[in-house]
Amino acid sequence: MLSESHFYFNKAADVIGLPERIRTILLTPLRSVKVELVVEGEDDELHHYIGYRVQHNQARGPMKGGLRFHPDMDEDHATALANLMTWKTAVVDVPFGGAKGGINCDPHTMSERDLYLVTCRFVEQMKDVIGPTKDIPAPDVNTNARIMGWIMNEYSKHEGFSPAVVTGKPLELFGSEGRSAATGRGVMDVLADALDEQGKSFAEVTVAVQGFGNVGSHAARLIAERGSKIVAVADHTGGVSNDDGLDIPALIEWTAGHGGVKGFSGGGAFDGPEVITWDADVLVPAALEDAITKDNAGDVKASIIVEGANGPTTPEADEILNERGILIIPDILANAGGVTVSYFEWAQNIQQFKWDESRVNQELDKIMSKAYRSVRDVATENDIDMRTAAFVLAIRRVGKAALARVHLKTELPF
Ligand code: NAD
Repeated sequence: MLSESHFYFNKAADVIGLPERIRTILLTPLRSVKVELVVEGEDDELHHYIGYRVQHNQARGPMKGGLRFHPDMDEDHATALANLMTWKTAVVDVPFGGAKGGINCDPHTMSERDLYLVTCRFVEQMKDVIGPTKDIPAPDVNTNARIMGWIMNEYSKHEGFSPAVVTGKPLELFGSEGRSAATGRGVMDVLADALDEQGKSFAEVTVAVQGFGNVGSHAARLIAERGSKIVAVADHTGGVSNDDGLDIPALIEWTAGHGGVKGFSGGGAFDGPEVITWDADVLVPAALEDAITKDNAGDVKASIIVEGANGPTTPEADEILNERGILIIPDILANAGGVTVSYFEWAQNIQQFKWDESRVNQELDKIMSKAYRSVRDVATENDIDMRTAAFVLAIRRVGKAALARVHLKTELPF
């Protein structure tokens, strides 16, 4: 995954004409922390996990990025995702740098108590490197508002009352209105811009969604509310489809009670991976990395792909899709709604002031549309695809901020 994020960075760096040494400086993380986490589980066994936090760049502000609890979490993963966060915060122009981390555990096999203990141990080990003005974690795969609440509480025990240490918290614990739906809402926002550009309405397009967690379920719900038919949804348990459009609120309820979409009676069942090549106008990959590869990119039927997930498209697949004229709205733009409302949450926490949901949503819609237009302008000016354009925009912004902090004799092309 690391080489993939570097690949996209380098493609954009070629457009800018960025010297090799500067590429190395911009790609290398500022700090990478790895900690041992040992907890005695409810089964009376000692369980051993590794926690990661990679802090990539702070030129534009305190570092920001999610925490992922997944058996595949490792330093490479965290580094690649931390890199993406630096470019993502720059694309939407929120005053943060990039970070990412997590624990190599599988919450699906752990009791709530064990999950709580391992989360507290993580905070205890990381408390010196995170903080409201240093690095602010948020939810990602297999982490949620509840876990963010535990993190706030644990950090506050050590450092005093600190709601701004983490975002995506429960509403009753200094969370922000609109945060849980924010990434999905941002996906809907950029799709609205793309459809607008093409002179189409939501009602005219069908949509397939991979992943039905935080991002996928809210994106599906909001896109359906605008009038599109969601014809296929898949998650780690399987897929469900309905040509007349799935009842998304009912599917959300089913998933909450059954741990996945499998078994939902409002549609036919299919093998999860088939969702990528589903006969739909729009594809929203909102699960994990590498969902679209050179093996299935040629069979993708959608004409627009909105990357709800981070890194769902491999570079080989990206090339195939671009050659086929498929519009890809890249992750660092499409899923930036979450970090944008995280910024609102952080700002509300610091000011001890609460915004209502309509203000959050309005400000988010404005930022997402402005970012879409900025990326589109760079793409048009340079005759490049939207992903490369998003990286060009981000590298310029991060580069300029880094340069403005110091006195250098070296001339740089920012
Ligand atoms: P989540 O844990 O809430 O949901 C993940 C979903 O992916 C689940 O529905 C799961 O069943 C599905 N999934 C897992 N493995 C799968 C597989 N092999 N095939 C099909 N589906 C599979 O996570 P999330 O927060 O919705 O994050 C999803 C993606 O969006 C990740 O790439 C994450 O980094 C990215 N993202 C999340 C946020 C956020 O605010 N939560 C923000 C930006 C980006």
